[in-house]
Amino acid sequence: MEEKNKRMTTNQGIPVDNDQASITTQNQHLTLLSDTHLVEKLAHFDRERIPERVVHAKGAGAHGYFEVTNDVTKYTCASFLSQIGKKTEILARFSTVGGGRGSADTARDPRGFAVKFYTEEGNYDMVGNNTPVFFIRDAIKFPDFIHTQKKNPVSNLDDADAFWDFMSLTPESVHQATILFSDRGTPYSYRHMHGFTSHAYMWYNEKGEHFWIKLHFRTDQGIKNLTRQQATELAGTDPDHATRDLFDSIKRGEHPSWSVYVQIMKPEEADRYGFDAFDVTKTWSQKDYPLIPVGKMVLDRNPENYFTEIEQAAFSPGNLVPGIAISPDKMLQGRVFSYPDTHRHRLGANFDMIPVNAPKTQVRNYQRDGAMNMHSYGAPNYYPNSFDGPAPDKKYAVPPVDVAGIAARHEYQLSDMDYQQAGVLYGRVLSEYDKTNLVDNIVSHIKNAARRIQLRQAAVFYKAHEEYGTRVAQGLGLDVGEVKKLAEMSHEERVKATAQ
Ligand code: NDP
Repeated sequence: MEEKNKRMTTNQGIPVDNDQASITTQNQHLTLLSDTHLVEKLAHFDRERIPERVVHAKGAGAHGYFEVTNDVTKYTCASFLSQIGKKTEILARFSTVGGGRGSADTARDPRGFAVKFYTEEGNYDMVGNNTPVFFIRDAIKFPDFIHTQKKNPVSNLDDADAFWDFMSLTPESVHQATILFSDRGTPYSYRHMHGFTSHAYMWYNEKGEHFWIKLHFRTDQGIKNLTRQQATELAGTDPDHATRDLFDSIKRGEHPSWSVYVQIMKPEEADRYGFDAFDVTKTWSQKDYPLIPVGKMVLDRNPENYFTEIEQAAFSPGNLVPGIAISPDKMLQGRVFSYPDTHRHRLGANFDMIPVNAPKTQVRNYQRDGAMNMHSYGAPNYYPNSFDGPAPDKKYAVPPVDVAGIAARHEYQLSDMDYQQAGVLYGRVLSEYDKTNLVDNIVSHIKNAARRIQLRQAAVFYKAHEEYGTRVAQGLGLDVGEVKKLAEMSHEERVKATAQ
């Protein structure tokens, strides 16, 4: 390094003569406010932290690329998917959900799985999880749900009552709860888990034909999980285990990759699928909608600065490029608002000008100014104008969808279908080893909740699968007959019977 490049400066670029002694009176008892270097250094330090994400606060990430391996142009006109072999630069961020910025990577929690594709038609964000479903299907329930995953507002301690009270009063959560309490709820590392859009999205092609799709990012490293005991131990010995694993593997030149697949449902099939195909608490069976290969995602470059490139990374499920659009999924529609809203709060009005968030394409519009603005666009700053400013292009219109009907607070009516897929997972997919761990993981957590809540939740598991509910009840020392009786009731009757 050249001598002059090593010279320390203030933030104004002014050379610093001394960084070890403040300017003081002769006897060193009083510090002078005129020491602008000291004042700047302390003032900046005081502002080093930005608001923590309310959810997904603890995360790790890396750069890489996505490469198309199969032709999907009959389903989507997305430019980055237009050609086999085409590569697009990406940024991925993985995270836990409930814990704060300093919490352990091994917590039982879904893992966030967010990927930003820097395409030539703007940024496409895939903001999913390592689970194919979610606990709730209406965004209005989200703040309540997250409160139950965090600390009790009085004691600031984890609260098993709140956790299971909400789950058992919201039985559509049983599918995701089953995945969460299986060993996939404690993945060994971020490299050893799948990623899912979870929601359905729309893909549309050049002809304007549209399809409903779900993406699956399947780990090429293979699924590897921690048992509850291993996860607990690692939380003490190496709480940053997944962060370290990702960083070190990339540093060693072992570049993790995921094979990306799509499930495609035709619009008319969605109307007769047997349940709401846009309900994010449910999967589309891979037997009905097999996985079609699309491409490969590879992570091959660590961040040079964690804060700049990962902490400040801002994803939104609403960042969709031509060829991809949202679906009639209520939960997704809430997220499309909430993600950029939280980024504006966390990073400021111009969060999308931070290099890691900025598209590689040129931004052209009439939005101006705001805190930390980096654009120096001039006039005109209004539209329409007759000064040759940028103009919209109708060819990018998303295919229209029919939404006729009455606008109201339409409630989902719970049905047996809401328990069925958790039952299939337990009964058909999980091995005996998985089942034993699942039941044991549940019991070790719910045993700290009130008995009436245990009874209500055991009945929910029983409704999903008789053996599942029976084993949870037995593990808790509950009367299986009482659990069965509660399982046979309607949700409303069960809530009433376990009210106190
Ligand atoms: P399949 O038999 O075709 O697929 C079963 C799926 O379950 C596989 O993707 C498998 O992942 C996955 N799986 C295995 N263990 C777990 C676990 N502990 N937690 C979450 N997923 C797990 O069945 P279907 O497509 O007909 O679905 C049956 C059930 O499988 C569903 O009710 C759902 O619970 C679960 N599932 C379904 C998915 C889908 O998109 N259809 C996706 C993931 C789970 P792997 O291939 O890595 O072993």
